[in-house]
Formats: sequence, structure tokens, C-alpha cells
Amino acid sequence: MNLHEYQARALLKAAGVPVPDGDVATTPAEVEAVARRIGGAVVVKAQVHAGGRGKAGGVKLVKTPEEAAAVAETILGMQIKGLTVQKVLVVPAAEIATEAYVGLILDRESQRPVFMVSPAGGIDIEEVAATTPDKIMRLPVDPRFGLLPHQAMALAFFLYRDIKQVRAAADIMQRLYRVFTENGASLAEINPLVTTPEGKVLALDAKVSIDDNELDRRPDLAALRDDSAEDPSEVEARNAGLTFIKLDGNVGCVVNGAGLAMATMDLVKYYGGEPANFLDIGGSSNPEKVVNALKIITADPSVRAILFNIFGGITRTDDVANGIKAALAEFPVQVPIVVRLTGTNETEAVQILKGIGMTALSDMDEAVSRVVALVKEAA
Ligand code: GDP
Ligand code: MN
Repeated sequence: MNLHEYQARALLKAAGVPVPDGDVATTPAEVEAVARRIGGAVVVKAQVHAGGRGKAGGVKLVKTPEEAAAVAETILGMQIKGLTVQKVLVVPAAEIATEAYVGLILDRESQRPVFMVSPAGGIDIEEVAATTPDKIMRLPVDPRFGLLPHQAMALAFFLYRDIKQVRAAADIMQRLYRVFTENGASLAEINPLVTTPEGKVLALDAKVSIDDNELDRRPDLAALRDDSAEDPSEVEARNAGLTFIKLDGNVGCVVNGAGLAMATMDLVKYYGGEPANFLDIGGSSNPEKVVNALKIITADPSVRAILFNIFGGITRTDDVANGIKAALAEFPVQVPIVVRLTGTNETEAVQILKGIGMTALSDMDEAVSRVVALVKEAA
């Protein structure tokens, strides 16, 4: 679960990381009031779950409260990477001497939290990683010991020469590490970590993602979820107990099991198609899940055909067939459906589908190539 910047910076602040004050607002009038209270120049920042807000015009520095209201007018309601801006954060503008990057991610390969820091921070860190990777220092942390003081200093020396700034940055990294581990994060990032002309070190932007598995034991973090800031189809799927991720293609996919779902998407790509989603209906397949899955997939106007790929183990394929039957009785599906199923109660499933004029394939390759061909015909 991604947090908004204002939520992430609250976690940092609680852990003692220096972040400028500020407040969220949802209307230009509120923005103006916050800017007036802060006094002086402020930065108005779009609060959406997307990186690159600065480049998209979602971060603006202004000198007066009136100007703050004016830029808020354009930023509120703006679309950034398909997400509508509904809130902005208003913070005092900092004077910037340097911008560094400090990030901490959970690395599967080393099975550890890994620090990544770079003196070339700011809005082009992806570019730095791609073209000059030697400007990034990586440090895996052994979770048994945490970030040791000398390690924090080594990271900080990679960023700064001035010993005061090095100490300040090392302290910030210790605190960031604590935020990461104490909140079950999979990512915690400060970009930019800036120095001011007076030599202070400040976190100007914060990004934290919480591992979804942490949320059951941390209702305080679960409460930070902002449904209105997520893709509506993903919210609906989560509420229906489905694992769903919206993608950009036009082949809707209904699959049981995450591994098979990944393999199915690979095969769709292999045959020249583009999946419209990742969807795992899970192991126990009550027909209701299939109805919900079809509702969510057919609501996406770019979907041109739907592929079912069901391998019946614990999942009963007749449950899936009954779900398809129930869905088609409940609402019209305007696009062709290709069903591949095999395994538990396959004979019953085939009969149920036959009863509504559908045939089921048993070969995965055949089903995928057929659905891709159907999409190409429709185009
Ligand atoms: P992002 O583009 O979504 O990562 O948004 P950021 O909050 O990181 O802002 C993007 C860029 O705007 C930063 O890298 C800074 O260069 C600039 N910026 C952000 N806050 C301030 C500020 O307080 N003062 C100044 N001068 N620039 C800022
Ligand atoms: Mn940033």
C-alpha cells in the first residue's frame, strides 16, 4: 500500500527526521489560508500515488498566498499518470543548495533491506541509475544488527564532505531505517534530501510503501489507505477478495493462482497480445468471485476479449463455469469469452458451459492464441 507524501512525512517527522512543516488542503481557498499561515514563499504539491509529479507540473513554488491559490486551481483536478489530484500539500519553500537521494528498499535477492544513496538526487534519479550507476551507493543491512553507526557514516560520506552535514545525514538514515522496519515498509525514500545554503539537511519529499501483509496487525497504518486515490477497479477487486492489477492492454484475464496468472500474461504477450489486467481469483472458487471478476473486467472499455484460464486443483472448475453462467444471466458481456479449463470437475464444467452455448478448451496455448486472434479481428 502506497502512502501519500503527507502521510509518509508524518511518519518521518514522528521518527525525528527534519521535514518542513506544512498542511494538506483540498480547495484553493484552503491552500491560500495555509500559505498565509506559513508566510513567505511556499511549495504547492499534488498528493497522488505517482512519481515524477514535479515533471508533470504537480509541484509549484510560489511567492504569495494569492499565487498559491492560483496554482492550486490548476493542480487540483489535474491528472498525473491517470490519477486525479484531490489533495495538495502546502509547505514552506526551502532554499536548496544540493539535492541527494536516499532510499531503502526490501531486496529479494539479498533478502535484506538495502540502502541506495546518491549525491545526484532530485527529479532525474531514474536517469542517474540508468546512465551513471557509479553515482549510487548500495548497502545491504543485516536486520539482526540494524544499520550500524559506521555504515550510516559511510553512506553519508558518499553524499557530503562537510562533517556536520555527514553527521546529520547519518542520523537521518538511522531514523529512516527505523521508519522502514517499524512500519513494515517495502520502500522508504527521501528524494530530494537537500542541503540549504546555511548548511542544514532537510527531507523535502517522502515516499513510503507499506507491505500489505503488515496491515492486519497495524490498523493505524491500514487507516491511511485512500481508496479515492487508487484505480477504482483495483479497489472494487480488493473488496471482492480478488487480487487484481489493472494494466494497459485489451485482453481481460481471469486466472486461478498467481503463478498461472503470470504465465498466462506471458503467453498472451508471446502471441502478440497485451493483457488488460492481472487477476488471480484464488484457490477456493465460489461462483460469486467469478461474477465479480467479470463485472470488474467488463467495466474496462479497452477490453476486447476475455480469457479464462483455470487449472482445477482445489479450485472446482464447475464453480467457475457456474460463475460464468450466473454473470451472463446477470449482465450482458459484449466481448467474446474464451474459456480454458482443466482439472477438478472438468466434465461437469464442460456440461454447464455447453448448456449456455459455450465451449471450453483444455489446451492453454490454443486458448491464448485464439483470444489474441479475436482481439486482432475486433481491431
Ligand atoms: P516529485 O517530482 O514527485 O519527486 O516531487 P518532489 O517533491 O521531489 O519535487 C520535485 C522537485 O521540486 C525537487 O527535486 C526540487 O527540485 C523541487 N522542490 C521541491 N520542494 C522544493 C522547495 O521547497 N524549494 C525549492 N527551491 N524547490 C523545491
Ligand atoms: Mn521527489
